[in-house]
Amino acid sequence: MQQNYQDAMAMVRNFGKPDLFLTFTCNPSWSEILNSMEGVQRPEDRPDIIVRVFNMKLKELLEDICKHGIFGTVLAYIYVIEFQKRGLSHAHILLTLDSESKIRTKNDIDKFVSAELPDPCTGLRLFQIVTKCMVHGPCGTISINSPCMRDEQCCKSFLKYFKDDTEENVNGYPIYCRRATEPIQVGKYSNDNRWVVPYNPWLLKKFNAHINVEVCA
Ligand SMILES: [Zn+2]
Repeated sequence: MQQNYQDAMAMVRNFGKPDLFLTFTCNPSWSEILNSMEGVQRPEDRPDIIVRVFNMKLKELLEDICKHGIFGTVLAYIYVIEFQKRGLSHAHILLTLDSESKIRTKNDIDKFVSAELPDPCTGLRLFQIVTKCMVHGPCGTISINSPCMRDEQCCKSFLKYFKDDTEENVNGYPIYCRRATEPIQVGKYSNDNRWVVPYNPWLLKKFNAHINVEVCA
């Protein structure tokens, strides 16, 4: 952790503050994992396969970001992978973009990040991925024992407020557009935009996984 911190500090000194923060979490339902199971094996029985597939996907994600420039020109990036005993492998990625690619206005933010449930009529696949991978909780009074709860509060500050429009900078972070719409039933729970973890639609459709994308203002 100490080395990661020093690397991150060196990146800030040389290239300026990061513009984007991503969290990419392994999806045990990826076909590459399921197709490698033998007999009655479940993904949790084969951590070796999970890690191999996750590393392959992470490499591809970094290529899309750094080589193909889906967010613009990347000056520097740093990532750390966390392997959890029971939970799933995930990577935290920090990106610094060049001055032309900086995400400044609310239009820039809206171009790359959404924090709303997509319309299932116009984008069913994205809707399915968002409802499966990008809805936080349930937590708070509905589920007081959720792992995100600390002293009866959600440590990720869910649920969020409804907001008609994105606001660029509120105490260093943008507040994403989360319009008030009719709640949608997802499994046992009724969900609306207040529970959506910010994501990039293109990345989500490509990787079918939890990929949280946050703009650092
Ligand atoms: Zn929570």
